[in-house]
Amino acid sequence: MHDDIQSILIPAEQIQAAVARLGADITRDYAGVDLHLLGVLRGAAPFVCDLMRAIALPVTVDFIGVTSYGPNVRGVVRITKDLDESITNRHVLVLEGIVDTGLTLSYILRSLATRGPASLKVCTLLNKPARRIIDVPLAYVGFEIPDEFVVGYGLDWRQKYRNLPYIATLKPEVLMG
Ligand code: 5GP
Repeated sequence: MHDDIQSILIPAEQIQAAVARLGADITRDYAGVDLHLLGVLRGAAPFVCDLMRAIALPVTVDFIGVTSYGPNVRGVVRITKDLDESITNRHVLVLEGIVDTGLTLSYILRSLATRGPASLKVCTLLNKPARRIIDVPLAYVGFEIPDEFVVGYGLDWRQKYRNLPYIATLKPEVLMG
């Protein structure tokens, strides 16, 4: 698996440092509020697991699963796993692994907004602003990254590499193979 890596963009220690920083910011901002975390499957799974333990508040957690229809179909998103709990009148913080064009998150936010949350904000580990098509408000960002396809820490290439502890680029022959 590690042989397929071109270069490590964000080492594991830097990810954990960012998680600690985001956790401290969220703890400060949501003090006294019942915070409901909403992880976007599958890419945000490791981020959710680490970040929830860096938040020193009594949070609740749920997940939403989404998939896009294919690499050539932009902005068409399908919910594969809906929420288990209602978010009406709750303070919701959506946890996402990466925001690229913004189309996926925009779809999720529009769907969630119709359900009447008390507040709705986003925390993403990675932000790739170069390819943004739709402006989405990002309250918390771990890292801004250049326009490169990355894997690891939840992010996949053909469902692999999600278990890498770091964020990295793949060798071109792996991406083409
Ligand atoms: P969007 O373009 O809608 O903001 O992002 C759509 C989805 O594409 C993301 O949730 C993520 O699953 C995937 N994606 C975007 N950029 C990357 C990337 O660099 N690496 C990986 N593995 N997935 C990405």
